[in-house]
Amino acid sequence: MDSKKYVTLKERFLKYVKFNTRSDEASETIPSTPSQMEFAKMLKKELEELGLSNIFINKACFVNATLPSNIDKKVATIGFIAHMDTADFNAEGINPQIVENYDGKDIVLNKEQNIVLKVDEFPNLKNYISETLITTDGTTLLGADDKSGIVEIIEAVNYLKEHPEIKHGDIKIAFGPDEEIGRGADYFDVKEFAADYAYTMDGGPVGELEYESFNAAQAKFKIKGVSVHPGTAKGKMINASLIASEIIEMFPKDEVPEKTEGYEGFYFLDEMKSNCEEGEVVYIIRDHDKAKFLAKKEFVKELVEKINKKYGREVVKLELKDEYYNMGEIIKDHMYVVDIAKQAMENLGIKPIIKPIRGGTDGSKISFMGLPTPNIFAGGENFHGKYEFVALESMEKATDVIVEIIKLNAER
Ligand SMILES: [Zn+2]
Repeated sequence: MDSKKYVTLKERFLKYVKFNTRSDEASETIPSTPSQMEFAKMLKKELEELGLSNIFINKACFVNATLPSNIDKKVATIGFIAHMDTADFNAEGINPQIVENYDGKDIVLNKEQNIVLKVDEFPNLKNYISETLITTDGTTLLGADDKSGIVEIIEAVNYLKEHPEIKHGDIKIAFGPDEEIGRGADYFDVKEFAADYAYTMDGGPVGELEYESFNAAQAKFKIKGVSVHPGTAKGKMINASLIASEIIEMFPKDEVPEKTEGYEGFYFLDEMKSNCEEGEVVYIIRDHDKAKFLAKKEFVKELVEKINKKYGREVVKLELKDEYYNMGEIIKDHMYVVDIAKQAMENLGIKPIIKPIRGGTDGSKISFMGLPTPNIFAGGENFHGKYEFVALESMEKATDVIVEIIKLNAER
C-alpha cells in the first residue's frame, strides 16, 4: 500500500484522539459533554481550511459539510457519518503510542503498571504483523472508536479535493455527538443532510460491512413492597427484594448475552437495586428478528401481569421503551447501498465480512428516518477500553473504500 497517499492521516488521527470527548449518560444537555462541542468547533475549522462547502454545526451538535459535485450529470448524493464521542472509559490524557513495523509479539502498554496487550488474549494482533499500530498507554481508551471514522472521511474528501480528475457527485459528511450513550442520532436531521444514502464509518476490523442490527428495548420493573418491622411482619410485609428475585427467576436462562451469538437474541439483566420497601430491575431486550423481538416484549408484559395477579395488587410497574430497530428492515429494500460498498471492497482486494451487528449504530436510527445507512469498518480493535488499538494501514484501507464507493457511485 502507498502509505504516502493520505499524508495527513496519521498526524490528524493523533491530534483528534487527544481530545477527551467522552459522553455522559447522566447528562441531559446536547451534546452531553461540553468537550464534544469544543471538538466540533475544531473540526469545523479544519473543514473550512480544507475548503469544503456549506459547513455548519447544527443545534444537535452535528458538524456538517459538503464536497460539491464536479460532474455535469446527476448522480446520487452519498453521505458519510461518524461519531465524535468516546465510550464510558477514562479518556483524560490520552497518550497514543506508535508501534512501527509490528513484530507480532506482546506489546507493553505501560511498564510501571504492567499493562500488556497480549497476543494470547488478543489473537487478532497476528493480523497486523509489519504494520504500524497505534495503541494506548494503558491508562485510557484510544478513541479510534470513532475518531478513526472521522479521520477517514476527512482524508477521503481531502484526497478527492486534491484529485479533481476523479469525478464524483455531491458528498455530504456529518460528525455527531453522543453515539455511545445511544442518543446523538435521535436529533440527526435527515432533511438537512439531504443525501440519498449514507454510511457510518464505525465498524471494527478491515472488511466489516453491516446492515443488520438488533431491535432494542429497555424494560424497567419498578417494584413497590410493604416494609414492616420483621418481628411483626406476618401477613403484612411484601419484600420488594424477593419480588425482584422472582422476576429475575422467571426469565429464560439460556437467552442471555453470554450464551448467544449470531442472530440469537437475548434478555440482559443490566441493573438491579432493591430493599424491602422498593426495588428496580432493568433489563435490555435484543433481537434481530422483529417477531421474536415483539414476543420478548410480550413475555415481559405477561410476566408483570402474573406477578401482580399473584400478589393481588400492583406490586410491579413496567416501563417498557423501544430504543432502536433493525436497520436491515429498511435497507433490504435498498440493497444496492450494501452492494456498492461490497463492490468497493472487492475492487480494492478487501474481503467483505458481512455479519449482523449485535448492537446498534447511529445507522439503526438514521435508516428508520428514511436514509439507508449501513456501517463500514473504521479499522479499530478492542473498542471501549485500554486495549483498544488501530493499524494505520486499516485506516488507509477504510479511506480507500470511501473513495472507491464515491467513484462507483459516479459511474452508476
Ligand atoms: Zn462507535
